[in-house]
Amino acid sequence: MVSCANPDSMVEETHNPLLDNGPMNGNSRHGEAKDEWNGVAEWKIRANPAAVNSKNPIRDVMESLPPVVARNGKLEISLAQGDPCAFGHLLPPDGAIEALLNTAESSMFNGYAHSAGLLESRRLVIAKYHSINSKLAADDVYITVGCSQAIQLCIEALACPGSNILLPRPGFPIYETFSSYYGLQCRHYDLLPDHDWEIDLEQLESLVDCNTVAMIICNPGNPCGAVYSHEHLSQIAGLAERLTVPIIADEIYAHMVFGTRKFVPMATFSWKVPILVAGGISKRWLVPGWRLGWIILHDPRGILKRGRVVEALTRLVQMTIGTCTLVQAVVPDLLLHTSSDFHQKTLLTLKLGAELCFERVKRIRGLSCPSAPEGAMYMMVKIDFLDFVELKNDLEFAAVLRCEELVTVLPGTAFGLKNWIRIVFVAPLSHLKEAWDRIEIFCQRHVRRKP
Ligand SMILES: *Cc1c(COP(=O)(O)O)cnc(C)c1O
Repeated sequence: MVSCANPDSMVEETHNPLLDNGPMNGNSRHGEAKDEWNGVAEWKIRANPAAVNSKNPIRDVMESLPPVVARNGKLEISLAQGDPCAFGHLLPPDGAIEALLNTAESSMFNGYAHSAGLLESRRLVIAKYHSINSKLAADDVYITVGCSQAIQLCIEALACPGSNILLPRPGFPIYETFSSYYGLQCRHYDLLPDHDWEIDLEQLESLVDCNTVAMIICNPGNPCGAVYSHEHLSQIAGLAERLTVPIIADEIYAHMVFGTRKFVPMATFSWKVPILVAGGISKRWLVPGWRLGWIILHDPRGILKRGRVVEALTRLVQMTIGTCTLVQAVVPDLLLHTSSDFHQKTLLTLKLGAELCFERVKRIRGLSCPSAPEGAMYMMVKIDFLDFVELKNDLEFAAVLRCEELVTVLPGTAFGLKNWIRIVFVAPLSHLKEAWDRIEIFCQRHVRRKP
């Protein structure tokens, strides 16, 4: 039964056919004579090895998966990629598209914006945070190409040679992608599955030395769906203060909570420790393709300024001159006019999806989920390989599940946690039900204890 896929293809780099089929093979693209390629060896072009070796594991897996062919009327159901737009059941707020069209028609936003972003958009971002930190000014905001670039720039601005950074395990993989790319040593602190994925603070502390430039905290969390309490965040901030390590807070899922816990912004504690908040409109406003995010510097004591981090960020954004001006111009409208009904509807969809997944996991022998997700769009499911002796690990589990049942999930390995899988629950309920029916059948078929 375990036959149809090479599980390693879920994580290993695929060959680039363009590289494998070069002139040395004598295959001329245009069918000219072999000799046409003579002289190519004189071109000493070599790509930057850091670029060639860089890798975003999620994208790498997603974009190298071979297409699966529908069988017996079964279509692929992908619970792999965290894109709330993927299924078409969630749409951006009413008026967002209209605002975008009006903006385009006005012809007022065809030019470059300020490198840090349109002033009006930055002001509105501030207005959202003003109650937490009344010292904020538009200068403390940088509009970026999605939250991804916000994270990238924060890391880049802090990446002094020879330093290290603390990253969550399991965690969103681009933290490591960027950190490694900018020469930082990555040190992983553990999230504890049996303590609602809270941070192992003792272990975190043991990783810090005088070359630690930041810790990245993701709340609400991807990939676990955890939402941290005020108390836990306060402990984290207290520790960061004592160790004098600034916090990069990935809050792309700010306010996307549907359980018992409220969302507490990390910046609540900025009087203790400088906080670089990375956020954006991708997830909460359901427009990840619009590529708009932001950095907000919460630095009431001027610590980042003193370390010239503000200067560094200002120079960095001047290199790329920000994201699409048209989309920037729609931000005030989005932030001011999105109804709370819109957000409530999204949260209800997430809540129902999360509950369904959590209940279904409980029914399946060999799978477990230690704590119900309360935010974001993801949960981690543990696989007990004592129950699945013929499946080697999470990579094989995911690959064989995809091949046999056409359900795609990401192996935990992509997030630094072996023998778990990550499930995206932002799909329509009908899709989730069907996916779990198939996962259940799959597990029943493969469950086998060691004799
Ligand atoms: C989706 C996601 C991002 C990236 O958001 P974009 O705005 O699409 O770049 C950043 N962090 C986490 C944890 C995410 O899940």
